[in-house]
Amino acid sequence: MILVTGGAGYIGSHTCVALAQAGHEIIVLDNLCNSRADVVGRLSRLCGQEVRFVQGDIRDGPMLDKLFATHPISAVLHFAGLKAVGESVNEPLAYYDNNVNGAVQLLDAMRRARIKTFVFSSSATVYGDPASVPISEDFPRAATSPYGRSKLMVEDILADVAHAEPEWRIARLRYFNPVGAHESGLIGENPQGVPNNLMPYVAQVASGQREYLNVWGNDYPTPDGTGVRDYIHVVDLAEGHLAALDYLHRQGGLLTVNLGTGRGFSVLDMVGAFERACGQAIAYKIAARRPGDIAACWADPSRAQELLGWQAKRGLDQMCVDAWRWQQSISRGGGG
Ligand code: NAD
Ligand code: UDP
Repeated sequence: MILVTGGAGYIGSHTCVALAQAGHEIIVLDNLCNSRADVVGRLSRLCGQEVRFVQGDIRDGPMLDKLFATHPISAVLHFAGLKAVGESVNEPLAYYDNNVNGAVQLLDAMRRARIKTFVFSSSATVYGDPASVPISEDFPRAATSPYGRSKLMVEDILADVAHAEPEWRIARLRYFNPVGAHESGLIGENPQGVPNNLMPYVAQVASGQREYLNVWGNDYPTPDGTGVRDYIHVVDLAEGHLAALDYLHRQGGLLTVNLGTGRGFSVLDMVGAFERACGQAIAYKIAARRPGDIAACWADPSRAQELLGWQAKRGLDQMCVDAWRWQQSISRGGGG
């Protein structure tokens, strides 16, 4: 059985579906600070099994001890955490407590229970502003926000744990920009308030919830001047976790891999692709650069391909079609 922390959230829920499809039993632990309990019912439908759900916090050691004592858990996929870069600047302690202390509490409880297989949601943000693209795993790491530093710190903690106790099997997965949703339209990303990220914002413009998109800068040194990112379909990302788990079972040790497509698309490329998917124009205005943004970021995904035999399969159009289906489902009050 696999414990999925943050399994009611965006990436965790899609990974639960991939795990269940591969025949794994799962149990979700989530404190619902950024998700809703009704996701679990929809997850059970998609997984074809009653998904066990525990509402609780990864920082609650006694609860974790009980969880590990009462379920035959063999591995932990750790998605739980806070992820808003801007918020982390204003509330650094909340971020270090949730993301760093939370990971330490969880690892410590695993150690007490002698469960030593751990997959961590890291981020391309650990590369800061890269000197060049594509980005490979040996690029220097840097962080520009408390959120980014919390990811760096947990990456370092995991390396120390792997060094001290080589029987641990640990994956540090550096996600690029996850977008899209499950093709059923039953699960997806449903941010609270004004979306920070591009794709959910564009989807809300398409559904009439927002008037227009602000394109944060068109004077970057990129082909059309707007920021370029490596957008990856969340189902591909979910499948990357399965591949990483298989690798850990085969090889053990400490694995660090990028999960991206290896292709970069600009903000205007994304707007164009979404227009094709929803069949209508997306209004936008060019605005000033967003502080802290970088020009371009995309992965060198070759290590994941070599070591895991995994590569992203779903293209930009499918990302947008699936995101649009999900957005319509939210607008009808169905999902989210
Ligand atoms: P999300 O907010 O949708 O999911 C995180 C889930 O964790 C939520 O359901 C939330 O309620 C839960 N949670 C938060 N703190 C918790 C705690 N202390 N105890 C128990 N549950 C808690 O976010 P997501 O987009 O699915 O991201 C999952 C992970 O991937 C995060 O660690 C995030 O930093 C990382 N990541 C995300 C992105 C992205 O663009 N979405 C990119 C790189 C890395
Ligand atoms: N972006 C934008 N308008 C928005 C949100 C994002 O122009 O309302 C741009 C942003 O400047 C970046 C790209 O879209 O170039 C991806 O931004 P996102 O916040 O989704 O991801 P990240 O910056 O974390 O890579």
